[in-house]
Amino acid sequence: MALLDDGGWDGRIFNGSWVESSGGPTPIREPATGDQIGSYGRANTEDLAAATERAAAAQRDWAAASFEERAAVLRHAGELFESEADELHTWIMRETGAITPKAALETHVAAQECFEAAALASHPTGEILRSAQPRMSLARRLPVGVVGVISPFNFPLILSIRSVAPALALGNAVVLKPDPRTAVTGGVIIARVLQEAGLPEGVLHLVPGGAEVGQALVEDPRVPVVSFTGSTAVGRKVGEAAARTLTRAHLELGGNSALIVLDDVDLDLAASAGAFGSFMHQGQICMTTGRHLVQRGVADEYVEILADKAKNIPVGNPLTEQVALGPIIDESQRDKIHDMVTGSVEGGATLVAGGTYEGLFYQPTVLTDISTNSPAYANEVFGPVAPITSFDGIDEAVALASDTEYGLSLGILTRDVMKGVDLADRIPSGIVHINDQTISDEAVAPFGGVGASGTGARLGGPAANIAAFTDTQWLTLQGEITRYPF
Ligand code: NAD
Repeated sequence: MALLDDGGWDGRIFNGSWVESSGGPTPIREPATGDQIGSYGRANTEDLAAATERAAAAQRDWAAASFEERAAVLRHAGELFESEADELHTWIMRETGAITPKAALETHVAAQECFEAAALASHPTGEILRSAQPRMSLARRLPVGVVGVISPFNFPLILSIRSVAPALALGNAVVLKPDPRTAVTGGVIIARVLQEAGLPEGVLHLVPGGAEVGQALVEDPRVPVVSFTGSTAVGRKVGEAAARTLTRAHLELGGNSALIVLDDVDLDLAASAGAFGSFMHQGQICMTTGRHLVQRGVADEYVEILADKAKNIPVGNPLTEQVALGPIIDESQRDKIHDMVTGSVEGGATLVAGGTYEGLFYQPTVLTDISTNSPAYANEVFGPVAPITSFDGIDEAVALASDTEYGLSLGILTRDVMKGVDLADRIPSGIVHINDQTISDEAVAPFGGVGASGTGARLGGPAANIAAFTDTQWLTLQGEITRYPF
């Protein structure tokens, strides 16, 4: 089966129902080569309005369909993510600059999200309450109607499907706005898989547009819930717009996650975890290890091993070479990374590896002697950069790790797991991994951050997904009409 045809998606293959595209064909660029590898139909705000209207109309029948029907569509979608993985991997690698294991992770988690969503369709939808009156009293969960999903460029398939699949399973229609740089991985793939899986026409709409289309989606009165994944700066704008229209916004935002390395660990393993945490997918992951906090007695050795790894990691075009790191998504992201690295070095940090680039290929970079207000330490870099600082005691580690507006993920490496739990208790973070680095995702786990990393919203697992994509209704039933005194 060829899910993606010839690479031209200007609306025609989706019958006008899946890709809203008045903005005309837009080229899709491969970051590794700069080549055009396809085109998609760019959506504008009028397309968005048409999509939400049609989604609202289609949602009623979808919600009224048997849960078995919804589960079957999602199960089939999960199977397609597995059976068509080879074709999808090539696209994910070319469009997002991913190495094969990252592309495989995207399709694997996408399949799992669909299988979990299929099971969610048959999940109990509420509870029977006690009532002081002679009546039956229920709290039941109903679909919200149309869910808007806005996703970023870095893990576009997972970050779209993690909201699309559960929202559909629970009887909602969905309008999906991926980042225009990854319209295929974050949108077309999902639309095509669900189309092949038998999703009725009109229940999912794809609107690959820019900020103005995202903003219109948040402000559309037919969309009561928006699931947004992206930067904290844009998340604040989405939150403001959502407050004006009283839209419920789930905000999954940026991070600057710390990896704490205590002096009782195997340093080879610790540095390997640290390298993966900072360099995986060129550091373009919300959970990327943005700060390495290493106990002073082992810090020099840790820096040495990590720098050695950074200098030897192969960087290049993942489609044609055996590499561990591919390209940065575009020049503007690369320039932001480089400005933060050079700004930190000018501010006194020592560059022990990397700090250079060729085209969009940025060398894995290690910085030491870095002050806590250096740009590459204090901000989310979103690039392959490992800033390292050291601490003496546990209290200092807690203070350093907590000294950030973000709170997405935290890694703690120590042989003393109860010391790890103590640190987890004391440092605000939505996710903590003891004896692992900061990046991990599973369809069954409630994913989300605190502070500037999000509103504490959670996606993943039945409880979080039901809370995110349904409304609670209090329903009472009694056999006779109550007699009132007037
Ligand atoms: P971004 O915020 O610039 O864009 C994200 C999405 O929002 C895109 O689809 C974009 O077109 C859209 N958008 C832009 N302006 C908008 C507006 N005013 N209204 C509505 N939508 C708008 O994000 P980015 O910089 O491209 O992506 C990287 C960021 O995403 C990083 O900060 C990263 O940490 C974060 N992220 C968070 C998670 C998480 O789960 N917490 C996961 C991945 C990425």
